[in-house]
Amino acid sequence: MGEILCLNAGSSSLKFALFAIRDGEPIPAASGKIENIGLEPHLIAHDAKGKTIAEQRWTQSDNATHETLLGDLLDRIEASAGPDLIGVGHRIVHGGIDFSEPVRLDDRVLARLDALCPLAPLHQPHNLAAVRAVQAVRPSLPQVACFDTGFHHAIPAVATRLALPRALEDEGVRRYGFHGISYEYIARKLGEIDPVLSGGRVIAAHLGNGASLCAIKDGQSVDTTMGFTALDGLVMGTRCGTLDPGAVLYLFQQKRMSAEQVEHLLYSESGLLGVSGVSSDMRALLASDDPRADEAIDLFAWQIARQAGALASSLGGLDMLVFTAGIGENSPEVRARSCARLAWLGVEIDAEANDSNQSIISTPASRVTVRVVPTDEERMIAIHTADLLAAGKDAS
Ligand code: AMP
Repeated sequence: MGEILCLNAGSSSLKFALFAIRDGEPIPAASGKIENIGLEPHLIAHDAKGKTIAEQRWTQSDNATHETLLGDLLDRIEASAGPDLIGVGHRIVHGGIDFSEPVRLDDRVLARLDALCPLAPLHQPHNLAAVRAVQAVRPSLPQVACFDTGFHHAIPAVATRLALPRALEDEGVRRYGFHGISYEYIARKLGEIDPVLSGGRVIAAHLGNGASLCAIKDGQSVDTTMGFTALDGLVMGTRCGTLDPGAVLYLFQQKRMSAEQVEHLLYSESGLLGVSGVSSDMRALLASDDPRADEAIDLFAWQIARQAGALASSLGGLDMLVFTAGIGENSPEVRARSCARLAWLGVEIDAEANDSNQSIISTPASRVTVRVVPTDEERMIAIHTADLLAAGKDAS
């Protein structure tokens, strides 16, 4: 059918993945990232086997913008893929209450997504800037938005509500949930590999630099730990997670911090980094002999268990626990520590299976099946983009 480029754009980085679509299935062709945009950008790309196929550095005097860098990336892809590039799929953090499904991007949709920037000021403007940059250099190339909030669209109203005056809810101050593209992928994958239990009560733990839990019932999200923003819920690499709002008032009133300072503290100086004083990176914490690193790991595991307990209540029990993303897929230590705290729910893991990152890490006697499932957000974006483009063709 052709090739699809998936983009995940941040303020100074752009991750990309190229898929060839064969019989509706995405086949990985290449992936990579451009980092340090705005200063001295650095592009690196690998083929599907991990071999480096392109690398380039720009200096500040090159004045490389998002637009010129995306133009360069598209030139390279078209030079290798020829006229086969049929569309671009984007990870867009916020779809608000209107966009529950992926949508073809045009000026009207972009304007509605612009209006959501105040709800995700650190991510949404950069996601949309990448759409506009592609629009500027390839105006006729179809683009599709996939939303991190989309999978949580149908969670019960009670799980969306913040106990603030209703007028604020009416203007969108409510819980949305994020990491939805990852959770949708996991829910689909479970349907393939474990069709019986995937229809039951599942908690998926997306544990990466950003971290959250999602309660999934019959393949649908019914509760999740992130809320109005991606600050809520678990302790993360540099984000604070669930916090007493009184602590934020203290920062303003007693510490006399500005809104920008508080934002920076909560998003970039807190979490594992803030607690350990060592690193935001789990590998570095696990390797450290600083006792504060161990305390940070312990807090992370304690919160996973504590919030999994809350989600088990939303599900009315638990049949399966799934670990995914950088930490979830690779850290036996974090999985062991959090599962030990969930023994009361019937979670029992097999140390050997856990240590060797097997796909099932629970014992045969465990009441809850515990799995490790690698996530693939780019593949999910490619599937949606291919489906939407194919549907558009059929309709015309
Ligand atoms: P992600 O955001 O999904 O890329 O995940 C990044 C996080 O995964 C970082 O905290 C890494 O330290 C962590 N991570 C990656 N590999 C490992 C590993 N082998 N053991 C522990 N943590 C890991």
